[in-house]
Amino acid sequence: MAKHITILPGDGIGAEIMAEAVKVLEALQASGLDITYEQQHFGGTAHDLTGSCLPEETLQACLNCDAILLGAIGGPVYDKLPRDERPERGLLKLRSTLELFSNLRPAMLFPQLADASSLKPELVAGLDLMILRELTGGIYFGEPRGIATDEAKGNERYGFNTMVYSESEITRIAHSAFRIAMQRGKRLCSVDKANVLEVSELWREVVTAVGVEYPEVELSHMYVDNAAMQLVRAPKQFDVMVTSNLFGDVLSDAAAMLTGSIGMLPSASLNIDGKGMYEPVHGSAPDIAGQGIANPLATILSLAMLLRYSFDDASSADRIEQAVSKVLDQGLRSADIAAGGASASTAAIGDAVVQAL
Ligand code: NAD
Repeated sequence: MAKHITILPGDGIGAEIMAEAVKVLEALQASGLDITYEQQHFGGTAHDLTGSCLPEETLQACLNCDAILLGAIGGPVYDKLPRDERPERGLLKLRSTLELFSNLRPAMLFPQLADASSLKPELVAGLDLMILRELTGGIYFGEPRGIATDEAKGNERYGFNTMVYSESEITRIAHSAFRIAMQRGKRLCSVDKANVLEVSELWREVVTAVGVEYPEVELSHMYVDNAAMQLVRAPKQFDVMVTSNLFGDVLSDAAAMLTGSIGMLPSASLNIDGKGMYEPVHGSAPDIAGQGIANPLATILSLAMLLRYSFDDASSADRIEQAVSKVLDQGLRSADIAAGGASASTAAIGDAVVQAL
């Protein structure tokens, strides 16, 4: 049966960048890819139309499809809505309803854009690493948490959080990471702080045990402080990294910046069955919305990730990534990666990718 995608363009530049990803999807359909799709309202635009950022119809479409492709949501107009009605709440609800616990943040740098990085081009040209961040557990959700007053210390206030992981939470993110490593270079580095934290000791033990089931994957462990250093010293040493929510939050943003441009970076959040929501790392860019100048490549590369990781279709994913590379070879650049030179419109870049396919 044909796989089905729910497409959520969202707000701001969302509709503009998604239109280009849809062109690419339709070009693949025309050459035989057996995939259907539907578009649904989500975010502030959905609120304008229906009074809800995540209308029931959209939620059902997301529950019933095989994968979701999201543009971006949010914007200053919607920041004035009551907190519970804001687009970000809709996104959190979607993530928790679908139990998307495994966040994939690739940091890849097309050699043509090596000058955009803050690191020396030879350190980052051709960079292709994947960071898996556990997304629904750890210190961001652990209990107890709060700010309290210590009477014994003259009513001094103190704040506290709990970093907690169960064996089952570690096991499922470890399986997710080993599976991704099997689809890539078969090297996995698990990042923790096992020299100081008991929760990391358990993390390391469980990841090691899961690794026995993946004998082809070379597993290593690294302390998070060293991992931060290594990411800016020699990032190309890594293939796949897996880590907890807090460490992954920090490391994935640092790795993203190795690539120079936010308009180039896709991401994914997967559940235990490999169903996922795919989206560019950037937001709705209200400052450039409606001008037709946004970079659509992060969204087009998110479609490539969707095909690779939810539909196991490496060949279509490769085709898209190679087409993007060809477009960069041709010198076509949106304003964010043009370094002050001539720039092409959102639609022109989408058309060029379709042509290169
Ligand atoms: P942003 O990523 O939207 O924009 C940051 C800067 O990068 C802006 O100057 C923007 O013009 C530029 N930029 C972003 N994407 C680009 C692209 N594809 N091409 C060219 N330039 C691009 O971050 P922000 O300004 O902090 O947030 C704007 C809105 O997006 C906020 O409402 C925020 O809550 C929301 N947001 C949504 C998501 C999401 O949908 N998952 C993620 C982050 C932020």
